[in-house]
Amino acid sequence: MTEPAGSISGSIEEFREAAAANNVHTVELAIPDTQGHLRGKRIPVKRFLDGGHSHGAHIADAMFVFDVQNDLPDNEFVNPDTGYLDAHMVPDNTTGRVFSHRPGYSLVFADAENEHGDPHPLAPRSVLAAQIERCRAAGLEPVVATEMEFYLCNPDWSPVQEHIQYSSLTDGMDFEVVLADMRAALLGAGIEVEGSNAEYGPGQFEVNTGPADAMTAADNTVLFKSIVKQVAMQHGYRATFMAKPWTEQSGSGMHVHSSLSADGKNAFSDCSDGEPNDLMRSWVGGLLQHAEAMTLLGAPNSNGPKRIRPYTFAPTHVCWGLDNRSVMARCVAQAGAGANRVEFRSGGADANPYLVIAGILAAGSDGIERNLDPGAMSEGDMYGAPGDKTALPTDLAGAIAAFEGSELAGRLGDTFSRSYVSIAQAEIPLAAENSPDADEVNDWERQRFIEHS
Ligand code: GLU
Ligand code: MG
Repeated sequence: MTEPAGSISGSIEEFREAAAANNVHTVELAIPDTQGHLRGKRIPVKRFLDGGHSHGAHIADAMFVFDVQNDLPDNEFVNPDTGYLDAHMVPDNTTGRVFSHRPGYSLVFADAENEHGDPHPLAPRSVLAAQIERCRAAGLEPVVATEMEFYLCNPDWSPVQEHIQYSSLTDGMDFEVVLADMRAALLGAGIEVEGSNAEYGPGQFEVNTGPADAMTAADNTVLFKSIVKQVAMQHGYRATFMAKPWTEQSGSGMHVHSSLSADGKNAFSDCSDGEPNDLMRSWVGGLLQHAEAMTLLGAPNSNGPKRIRPYTFAPTHVCWGLDNRSVMARCVAQAGAGANRVEFRSGGADANPYLVIAGILAAGSDGIERNLDPGAMSEGDMYGAPGDKTALPTDLAGAIAAFEGSELAGRLGDTFSRSYVSIAQAEIPLAAENSPDADEVNDWERQRFIEHS
């Protein structure tokens, strides 16, 4: 992995130099919330460099139990009786970025500590950090890349096109100026862009970004969403990562590629063509074992599971295979290749990447610890002929039932998992009242999710 331009992964002194060279006036100290939304404080650069980089700032812990509209569903850990405490934002000064699309601004991610000075159990960065540690304890470093899909929309949230021209280099040139600025802004923020293309939806696009360590990949993904929305707005458009904005059109996925590195080398590389090695088989075995429970991490509200339907290119069954868009875990296994990996395809673009990645690491590491076998690979049409493969949950109640009290929930932490379930549970009566059809995405649902996903 090479360090992309624009990110400052060193000391505060390096950040100080980059800030001076780029006339930075403001540092955004940023924490992702449970929905994957970046929140934080804008701090004058001098104040940050004089002391802010070590003592940090504070933010209401209510941010960890917000729903997508910032309402506060009942929660046993954060509520009026606990007094909505301040969480301490502790800057992670290795994460600095200087933005090119908003000159003068920079960003540093922060971890959250609770009132005892411990990692906040509800903070997505804490949840992911614990799972990274689990892999590292086994001598394995997770390497992760996300593929994000989104719709470009007009200010009234209608899609910018009415037709589909998948991966066209001819169609849609009006929007290429926007995509070009997005790619430049992402590169400017230190996110390695591999490429962008028109996706299989009207006004839908995808941008692929390069692999990184798991925390950087998650940081990059929330930053990606923020930057794509900001650049769309700079051009008079909007962008949405809502999982299923329109009943009849493709949903937007967040595909997550994972591999493990041991002693600086891809630990999945030592295999025969098309045959994952034992370590990769166990990793995939873990993903399959916990896939049903993981659905809630990738589809945490009433809209997300509506993406999981046959012939949408989103997976509907617990299965793995090689190059096949209808499988859930799509493996690249080529003899001696340094890019061997598993693409986990079930999460929606609106999901929180820290939590989806934490779920993958928790599941995969369990597969390795227990030497789980993924069984035979699936071939052919896994929508039309899924055989005896287990169906993934297709509604929120099913996703909650699969997660609540599961081994995966236990591995992610009891406090986090209980809080997470209660946030999801609060969506059920809202959807039952306002969007009761299991398949249809109605105006209420778009109103609730399209802008803030
Ligand atoms: N849009 C599809 C999804 O919701 C994925 C399409 C693809 O294969 O890239 O996951
Ligand atoms: Mg795609």
